[in-house]
Amino acid sequence: MKSHAKVVVIGGGVVGCSVLFHLARHGWTDVVLLERDELTSGSTWHAAGGMHTINGDPNVAKLQKYTISLYKEIEELSGQATGVHLTGGVLLAATEARLDWLRGVVSKGRYLGIDLEVISAKEAAELMPLIDPSQFVGAVRNKEDGHLDPSGVTHAYAKAARKLGAEVERFTKVEDIVRRPDGLWRVITNKGEVVTEHVVNAGGLWAREVGRMVGLELPVLAMEHMYLITEDMPEVADWNKKTGTEIIHAVDFDGELYLRQERGGMLMGTYEKANKVWSEFQTPWNFGHELLEPDIDRIAPSLEVGFRHFPAFQKTGIKQIINGPFTFAPDGNPLVGPVRGLPGFWVACGVMAGFSQGGGVGLALSNWMIEGDPGADIWAMDVSRYGDWATMAYTNAKVRENYSRRFSIRFPNEELPAGRPLKTTPVYDTLAAKGAQWGVSYGLEVPLWYAPDGVKDEFSWRRSTDFEHVAKEVATVRDGVGLSEISNFAKYKVTGEGAVAWLDRMLACRLPKRGRMTLAPMLKDDGKLIGDFTLANIDDHEWFIAGSGIAEQYHMRWFEAHLPKDGSVKIEALGQKLTGLAIAGPKARDVLAKVTRADVSNAAFPFMAMARMDIGMAPCLVGRVSYTGDLGYEIWVTPEYQRAAYQALITAGEEFGISLFGSRALNALRLEKNHGSWAREYRPIYGPVEAGLDRFVAYGKDADFIGKQAALAERKQGGKLRLLAFIVDATDADVIGDEAIWHDGVVRGWVTSGGYAHNAKKSVALGYVPKEIADKPDGFEIEILGKRRAARVQAAPLFDANFERMRA
Ligand SMILES: Cc1cc2nc3c(=O)[nH]c(=O)nc-3n(C[C@H](O)[C@H](O)[C@H](O)COP(=O)(O)OP(=O)(O)OC[C@H]3O[C@@H](n4cnc5c(N)ncnc54)[C@H](O)[C@@H]3O)c2cc1C
Repeated sequence: MKSHAKVVVIGGGVVGCSVLFHLARHGWTDVVLLERDELTSGSTWHAAGGMHTINGDPNVAKLQKYTISLYKEIEELSGQATGVHLTGGVLLAATEARLDWLRGVVSKGRYLGIDLEVISAKEAAELMPLIDPSQFVGAVRNKEDGHLDPSGVTHAYAKAARKLGAEVERFTKVEDIVRRPDGLWRVITNKGEVVTEHVVNAGGLWAREVGRMVGLELPVLAMEHMYLITEDMPEVADWNKKTGTEIIHAVDFDGELYLRQERGGMLMGTYEKANKVWSEFQTPWNFGHELLEPDIDRIAPSLEVGFRHFPAFQKTGIKQIINGPFTFAPDGNPLVGPVRGLPGFWVACGVMAGFSQGGGVGLALSNWMIEGDPGADIWAMDVSRYGDWATMAYTNAKVRENYSRRFSIRFPNEELPAGRPLKTTPVYDTLAAKGAQWGVSYGLEVPLWYAPDGVKDEFSWRRSTDFEHVAKEVATVRDGVGLSEISNFAKYKVTGEGAVAWLDRMLACRLPKRGRMTLAPMLKDDGKLIGDFTLANIDDHEWFIAGSGIAEQYHMRWFEAHLPKDGSVKIEALGQKLTGLAIAGPKARDVLAKVTRADVSNAAFPFMAMARMDIGMAPCLVGRVSYTGDLGYEIWVTPEYQRAAYQALITAGEEFGISLFGSRALNALRLEKNHGSWAREYRPIYGPVEAGLDRFVAYGKDADFIGKQAALAERKQGGKLRLLAFIVDATDADVIGDEAIWHDGVVRGWVTSGGYAHNAKKSVALGYVPKEIADKPDGFEIEILGKRRAARVQAAPLFDANFERMRA
């Protein structure tokens, strides 16, 4: 074994081998993979080997498509058969709600280049002869579905990587990982030590244990999973003989089942509701090639449905039941990327669909390590989407919920209950007593809307029970004054003698003067967005930044990686050390003026001003800005004072009819102002010109901000895309996000977010299209629940296009 390497990959499952292959293919060949046993000694060897392109997140779906396209290449490179059978498949819907969901999947597929088609149940049964079509209302055909040999694929990656110069050391167990003072890592094994710049944790079933070697508690947990293999079936033999093809794959969402042909019989797997965690706290090191005891009672309810939906199973015997463990993150997507605070330590774990996702994970991670950027939008699998709040018990609750809901519909207005409430603010009980319906953001409970007694969300793809109540909350803001809780923003404090120069380099905006705020895009080296913030200069010494709450860890990882080594700049993520309230609407100033002695007149405290002031008795930091696009104030207050500030505002607001509004009303308000938001309109694949944020980029400032050259080039060339706002001729259902945008009968773009703008009484969608068609006001359509709806470009905001209200 070599004593030094540029990269050490820990784990020879499908994921570790894919990472090794991609690093070598990308030119890093001084790389070694350490495997404690034979390759595939974790969950990889007993996988069912299914692969597909469908994923709830379009960007992950793209990487799944890439993974499937890769198998041919690694087979050729390695000479190792992968056993790929691209049979195609059908996704079956037993209910209309499921068919609506599938229509959304098809719509996404159109701009992702995934060939999907809605078909009838009868047509599905013609493609997959075991189906009883009377059990289904429709289906989707997917041509890029199939299965493979898990061991063959893993060895193909490893052999291809070796051919490119990478090394694989089997029977080499990593026992400890120690960071040296010079930043290099000592990877200590049972066979000696490797010193390396980068460590990749691809430990699969043991990813937690490998994480713990560096003091990291990763939110991953293994679950038991079962599939059965039947005896040979005459129906299968007949079909094979008649058509000369295998029986295609099927996913039966309502039965929570997946099926495929296995030799002369069938394989049926299930994500059962009565699921079971495996090795809750620690994975034994001596586990490897054994299977777990099957428990047919646990999967019996799903099998019962399966036998009804696929009657041929009733007449066949079960040859074998496989029960094996594999890992999940709380939301079921992988954990990939560099770990904040551990330079050179990377993770590629929690991969629950290694044969659909392993290639994409390897590609993204190798790009990230070599180029400094994953090269794709991989937010949905970025390890930084979790913070310290994702504790072991939280992970346990969420993983179980996710497993049991793997094939369940999640409606756009459906909030999942497991692991909640976890983080709450001091006004939580007060708001709950007012009827707050809660969502969750980065572990924190967030009021979505306020329901009268006896009313709650009815889950639906269409407008639902909250519609009229959210409309009232919107009217409260536009006609008088509303109060909302905004503690879910991320808040950062920047101090130190180097703060000004550092902020000037990190952020693309011009720095605001003392007591002022500005919108602050942050760019990567390639000139694409990596953040959008509000930056405030409190007193030339202390700077305040507010940004997307879900991206706190993501942004801190970026900030900290760019801090000067001399300690001249300090940045702190304030989390819930600072809570927030906001008031907005034409009467907002009247309310504020009643509770503070500070002069909050327009002259003394204009738009984009920020100052410390007392609200009632509570010391606060107040900014005159509002995401509602109205006259409004954001009020930052430490938690011990939040209730006092809240009470002062509510009491003062009584005479102005103050009322509460939640984040759904906020969404409706920001939509009629064409305000985008992070992780929806603003993501690391869009440039500022494309996203319409170029007006906040100080292209001419002296400071050489990160991404400046690339941003200048984007401005010159105009980028490729444009973010547009559309008014959609929708009737009872609005866009959710990720729908296809058509132009002149061809799919040209995708929706990023939208909804109903209650004040303007219009259905609004925001989304990206190629710049060449961005100035065409007509010819657009947006697909909602399988129907193309006419959409008109709305260049000017529907509300307060001249910004008079905001600045008044
Ligand atoms: C019953 C079942 C059916 C499945 N069906 C499918 C399917 O149809 N399609 C699909 O895509 N996925 C399926 N999966 C999931 C799939 O198996 C996983 O997604 C995949 O195996 C994850 O691979 P991995 O490389 O991340 O982890 P693992 O396979 O667990 O590999 C981790 C490797 O790291 C090694 N290791 C850990 N710690 C150390 C250390 N300290 N030193 C050295 N080596 C170490 C281990 O020995 C192991 O070989 C199924 C899983 C099960 C259990």
